[in-house]
Amino acid sequence: AYDVLVVGGGPAGAAAAVYAARKGIRTGVAAERFGGQVNDTLGIENYISVLETDGPKFAAALEAHTRAYNVDIMNLQRAEKIIPAAQPGGLIEVQLANGGTLKSKTVILSTGARWRNVNVPGEAEYKNKGVAYCPHCDGPLFKGKRTAVIGGGNSGVEAAIDLAGVVAHVTLIEFADQLKADAVLVNKLKSLPNVTIHTNAQTTEITGADGKVNGLKYKDRATGEEHLVPLEGVFVQIGLVPNTEWLKGTVELSKFGEIVIDAKGHTNVPGVFAAGDCTTVPYKQIVIAAGAGATAALSAFDHLIRTPAA
Ligand code: FAD
Repeated sequence: AYDVLVVGGGPAGAAAAVYAARKGIRTGVAAERFGGQVNDTLGIENYISVLETDGPKFAAALEAHTRAYNVDIMNLQRAEKIIPAAQPGGLIEVQLANGGTLKSKTVILSTGARWRNVNVPGEAEYKNKGVAYCPHCDGPLFKGKRTAVIGGGNSGVEAAIDLAGVVAHVTLIEFADQLKADAVLVNKLKSLPNVTIHTNAQTTEITGADGKVNGLKYKDRATGEEHLVPLEGVFVQIGLVPNTEWLKGTVELSKFGEIVIDAKGHTNVPGVFAAGDCTTVPYKQIVIAAGAGATAALSAFDHLIRTPAA
C-alpha cells in the first residue's frame, strides 16, 4: 500500500508526487495520460521563471522531475472508483479500469478538466491554429488581431472583456436570445467600442486557409440567414468540465462538478485531498494547479503524521 496515491498526472499531480516523495514516504501516481492538458498546449508563456516553453516540453519536464524521485508512475491507468477507508487510519481503495485496485493511506485527486467543444467543422482542425480555449493563456497571441468568443455566459463575457483590451476586435456569439452573464459584466462588455455582440446566433463552422483560422460562420436563428465573420482567432467558452464523474456519490462535488476543497486541499472524505482544475480552486492555470498540488501533498503528510494506523 502507498502512503500517498496521486490520481492524475498533470501539473497538480506531478507537483503533489514530488512534494510527497521528498518526505520519504511511499508515493504512487496513476494517470490516464501523464502531463495532462499541457500535452495539448502550444506555447506556455506564463509559468513564472520560464519565459517561454511549449506543452510537450513542459509535460516531459513534469515527468522527468517526478521520475527523479522514488515515485511509482502508473501511466495510461484510468481510475473508475474510490472507496473510502472503512475506519479512521484505514486504507482507501482506488479501482482502475484495467480491473486492478490500488490501496493507500491517503489519496490526492488531481484529474483536471476538459474544455467543452462546440463540435463544428474546423474546430478540431484549427485547434492551436487560431482556435483557443484559454484567454489568460492565449489572448496575447492575438494582439492586434480580430477574434470571436463563442459563449455568452460569465466565462465568455469575461473572456470578451479581457480580449477587447488586447486584440483589435471581438465578436461575441451567443446561441440563446440573450447573454447569460451577470448584468455588471454585460454592461461592461456593451460599453466597449471594439466589441460586437450577436445573440440568437448558432456557430456553424470555423473556416481557415493555409493551416490557419480565417473566419467564423454563424446562422441567425431568427431569420435562418448565414453570416461569415472574417477573423484570425476563435475562443470557445462554453464550459470547462471537471473530470470527476467517477467520484459522484462518494466525494462532495459543487454544482459544476468540481471537488469541494478547503484552503488546505481537504475534501469531505478523511484522507482524501484534491488539487488543480478538478477542484473548486479559483482560476484554472498551470502555476495555480502546481501550487495546489504542493498544498495537497503537504496536507496529506500532515494527516499521515497525525493519524494512527487502523
Ligand atoms: P490536467 O492538466 O487536466 O491533468 C489531469 C490529469 O489527470 C491527466 O494526467 C489526466 O490524464 C488524468 N486523469 C483524468 N481523469 C483520470 C482518471 N479517471 N483516472 C486517472 N487519471 C485521470 N495554463 C497556463 O497556465 N498557461 C497556458 O499557457 C495554458 N494554456 C492552455 C492551453 C490549452 C489548449 C489548454 C487546454 C489549457 C491550457 N492551460 C494553460 C490550462 C492548464 O493546462 C491547466 O490549468 C492545468 O493543466 C491543470 O492542471 P491539473 O493537473 O489540475 O489537470
